[in-house]
Amino acid sequence: MIPHIANENLDAVRSELSDANLRFAANSLEGGVVACTGNSGCKFAASNTKAHAIDLARFLDESVFLEEPINLHLTGCPHSCAQHYIGDIGLQAVKVKVGDETVEGYNVAVGGGVDDLQGIAKELFKGVPFEKTRPLLKNILERYLENRTEGERFVAFNRRYKVSALVELYALPGMEANIAIAN
Ligand code: SF4
Repeated sequence: MIPHIANENLDAVRSELSDANLRFAANSLEGGVVACTGNSGCKFAASNTKAHAIDLARFLDESVFLEEPINLHLTGCPHSCAQHYIGDIGLQAVKVKVGDETVEGYNVAVGGGVDDLQGIAKELFKGVPFEKTRPLLKNILERYLENRTEGERFVAFNRRYKVSALVELYALPGMEANIAIAN
């Protein structure tokens, strides 16, 4: 955060930031992404949360048009320093077996919130390899946009349905083996 920039200097600051390849325009997802330290600095982490957070936010911002900000929280272990259970979309890192390999992946939850919308997110999918979180989250946002009522916010949409209905709506083909139906 760069405080106390006079209005008359804004254009010059923007130009300097762009020249330095630094982004300053936060849009719907990139502006609301939260990630814990991850495995670049914490021994508990099961994944590189910060790199994955940037990757996912940029991919989703380029892929899906949203009028409202959606918070994406990535946390590296059950300690949940990034508070994934109160994000619109919350990812908790886990190691995932894919064939003979162990890869970085996530349990995926939706529908958390704070303040007047406070509530705990519903965990929908377990053990999703990171590579699959891109298409899965894109699908989640697209199905929400298709099926919401007029003006219905993401958090309200996800609270309207039971976990089993959300899993059915959001699952990618072939994901059934990873789903956890809690209610
Ligand atoms: S959530 Fe876990 S991995 Fe992430 S910073 Fe906290 S303790 Fe470390």
